[in-house]
Amino acid sequence: MKLPESFIVPPDYIRNRFTETIWETTDGSLLFTFDDGPFPESTEVILEWLETKRIHALFFVNGTGDREWMKEIVQGGHTLGNHLFNHRRALFMNGKEIEDSLLRTNQIIEDISGKGCEYFRPPYGIPFAGMGSMMKKTGMKIMMWSLLSWDFRYNTKNVCEIINRYISAGKIIVFHNNLQTVSKIIPILEYTSLQMEKRGLRCR
Ligand SMILES: [Zn+2]
Repeated sequence: MKLPESFIVPPDYIRNRFTETIWETTDGSLLFTFDDGPFPESTEVILEWLETKRIHALFFVNGTGDREWMKEIVQGGHTLGNHLFNHRRALFMNGKEIEDSLLRTNQIIEDISGKGCEYFRPPYGIPFAGMGSMMKKTGMKIMMWSLLSWDFRYNTKNVCEIINRYISAGKIIVFHNNLQTVSKIIPILEYTSLQMEKRGLRCR
């Protein structure tokens, strides 16, 4: 497995082009983010694990995801973020479709959490035309990441190698809450928390 570093940690030239975007935490803590879903099978194991570690995470959910499990996420003290209504590439949608998808998902999140949704992450992490103005209009912030675990593509060993190499203070880490990662997510999270302990890193 040989991935260029820029595929894992967004380089400065990209970060500097999107200065309004959140790339890392401001206080040195780590933030776990889980994209997609929620699917019952994967959400259940992730929530259980987070509870044992007393870690609060941010779940970027699709509006098509399981609503009961969105409630469980909120009840677990975690935050829901917007990952559009379904997981279509924004590239293939027009501005109106994207905005509808964003607002519809915000409404679901608000109904479930009782408060407005603050954070947005586009599917595949790909920005689209008009994204900045949609954020202004809705008062939301784009949150990308500073460590992409590649859990959706690689096996546990390879993902752990990535974590080991790049974990450090302030990182916003992307994991996935979906059916591709459900069988490996717990060993990956265990490994991550072990590395955090070794290095004195904490989540907020
Ligand atoms: Zn996604």
